[in-house]
Amino acid sequence: MVNKHIERLTAILGPGGVKIGAGVAAYDHGFDQTNLLAGLAALPRDTTQIAELLTYCNAVGLSVVPQGGRTGLSGAASSSDGQLILMMQAMSRIVAIDVVSQTAIVEAGCTLEALEAAVRGHGLTCGIDLGARGTATIGGMIATNAGGQEAFRFGPMRQRVLGLEVVLPDGRVMGDLTQVIKANGGYDVKQLFIGSEGTLGIVTRACLRLAPYDGEATTAFVAIDSLDKAIGLFRRLEALPNGRLLRAEVMNARHVDVSVKDHGETALGRFSHQKECVIFEFTDPTILEEELGRALEDELIADALICKNEKERAAVWKIREDWAVDRAYPKGLWFDISVPLARLGQYVKGLSARLKSHNPDFQLFFIGHMGDGNLHVTVNAEYPITEHYKAVSKLVYEGLTEVGGFFSAEHGIGLEKRAALAEQSDPVRLTLMQDIKRLIDPNSIMNPNKVL
Ligand SMILES: Cc1cc2nc3c(=O)[nH]c(=O)nc-3n(C[C@H](O)[C@H](O)[C@H](O)COP(=O)(O)OP(=O)(O)OC[C@H]3O[C@@H](n4cnc5c(N)ncnc54)[C@H](O)[C@@H]3O)c2cc1C
Repeated sequence: MVNKHIERLTAILGPGGVKIGAGVAAYDHGFDQTNLLAGLAALPRDTTQIAELLTYCNAVGLSVVPQGGRTGLSGAASSSDGQLILMMQAMSRIVAIDVVSQTAIVEAGCTLEALEAAVRGHGLTCGIDLGARGTATIGGMIATNAGGQEAFRFGPMRQRVLGLEVVLPDGRVMGDLTQVIKANGGYDVKQLFIGSEGTLGIVTRACLRLAPYDGEATTAFVAIDSLDKAIGLFRRLEALPNGRLLRAEVMNARHVDVSVKDHGETALGRFSHQKECVIFEFTDPTILEEELGRALEDELIADALICKNEKERAAVWKIREDWAVDRAYPKGLWFDISVPLARLGQYVKGLSARLKSHNPDFQLFFIGHMGDGNLHVTVNAEYPITEHYKAVSKLVYEGLTEVGGFFSAEHGIGLEKRAALAEQSDPVRLTLMQDIKRLIDPNSIMNPNKVL
């Protein structure tokens, strides 16, 4: 049967377009070690090839796992024996950059970093950024509705997409490459594919909104006594008239402590016993320094370091992005939640107390995109706690809906959060999702068992 597939797939894609066994294993499996287990991969070069490919897969019931950069964090690109991986890297062209309209049309396999570099040449930015920028693809970011560090200003991917081209499971191509913000044509069908994690179709091209690039940022590392005070400073910086707040990345004292120690003796050592720390990036160094000075006088902040050069900036970002906590506690439990800013401090206090009373060994760590209330929570102990996932997730999700938050912020559902989706979702919403899946993919060939 596999040989029969290979013959037909090769006829559609040409000899270099199909990989098997060692040819698949030679690729980097990415964040999830199960991503390449299918052992059969297709590398299409254009939309027509994908349409032909899906027509065939749908006819013979061969299930398809789309993959971009394989940086996804919820198991949504995981594959298994008997499936076909659809790798998008051969479709990475930047089709057009329209400087006047501030839009870009791009193929789905283009990395965020490549697109950002191209639009920066025109004084523009994609308005979205994340740690995996060098590998994550635009198609993968659309499929996961990625958020990242600038979402408090520009929204997640859902707000960056103006138009989409998508190949449906039966091989039909939905061409909706609109390039305008206002396009009211009844149901906004393209939105279904944003955040669908490859379960409804293959995103092949997108038209994205761009924004004027704000220029180089000044970075400050700021220690603050409480999350509420950090949010207070965030709002003050955001409201300053002569400059723009670009990023606000928060991390708790435990995270800072472990990361600072992991990186050895640096100028950041003095922050290792503080409370919450926030990386603020702002357009104007003088205004930032003045405002932080005022915040010190007002006892809103405990300490601050303004980076003088790229080396210091890199050291600060390493504290946020280097995964030292996960290296120190490889068997911890991860969550990705969001809470309205007004209730964020109260939520974290409540969660800390719940964890402590459940098991005093359990320690709360978090980092997050503070401006939109998105926290990446990790619960760790000095021993593996994987089998406590159910009990701990109950503590993490407690009260979230009541305060207007959500159990899944920006990493998607994938395989990991399917049970949580079933428990946390409004039942009518969940039924509609199942109906939509059946309507668009009746044979369930698109990334089966993910999300739903
Ligand atoms: C260091 C690091 C930092 C990160 N930071 C952030 C962050 O700040 N914010 C954030 O939101 N995420 C973050 N992520 C998660 C990840 O980068 C995003 O989820 C990203 O959007 C995934 O893109 P990808 O191309 O790697 O997709 P993959 O991992 O390859 O796939 C992810 C999902 O998209 C589907 N898919 C991929 N391409 C297509 C396509 N063309 N059509 C249809 N479906 C497709 C896959 O089937 C899968 O369901 C981070 C990850 C890492 C490793």
